[in-house]
Amino acid sequence: MCPHPSRIENDLPLPLISAEDIAQRVAALGREIAATLPPGPIHVIAVLRGAFVFAADLVRAMPRDVRCDFLAVRSYGSATESSGIVEITHDIGLPITGQQVLLVEDIVDTGLTIRHLLDLLSTRHPASVHVCTLLSKPSRRSTEVPVHFVGFEIADHFVVGYGLDHDQRYRNLPHVGILAEPSSPAP
Ligand code: 5GP
Repeated sequence: MCPHPSRIENDLPLPLISAEDIAQRVAALGREIAATLPPGPIHVIAVLRGAFVFAADLVRAMPRDVRCDFLAVRSYGSATESSGIVEITHDIGLPITGQQVLLVEDIVDTGLTIRHLLDLLSTRHPASVHVCTLLSKPSRRSTEVPVHFVGFEIADHFVVGYGLDHDQRYRNLPHVGILAEPSSPAP
């Protein structure tokens, strides 16, 4: 998809998923998760910062006993590519031993970040870990990771909005858009 030149000038992401479509899908995901996970509390771990908007909406769509926790990570790599080297900059505050965990991500791209987080969480002996992501780019996967609940599968675009950033910008957009970087080569 080629962004309109005026969007490049104004630095406006090209709309990809509307706020209305996100709201509908998140509501359906919340119901699906609530109906699928076995009875008992659900220990939700949102991966900061990107998943904070999604997780806030998702937990309110889950009519279950939910505990909320947060894990902040810093991924190394280029501005738009993860290297899979992940540093935990803020660890969860509640014990997860024997707990049913729902790990909430903004986007699964290569899968390297989720792989790292699953390996880390498994050392703390949760009863189970399910992964929920707002967005997934299946064509970019370089490692097999279990992703149990997916909001939207998208093609290989760099997207922003609804929590996702580029250089800390755009997180407050209510929709998801494709970022037209000024340096993008002309078609
Ligand atoms: P992975 O380790 O799966 O390659 O990448 C996961 C992380 O890379 C995401 O949590 C996100 O921080 C970042 N990422 C991957 N693709 C995108 C994208 O299209 N937009 C934004 N804003 N971040 C992305």
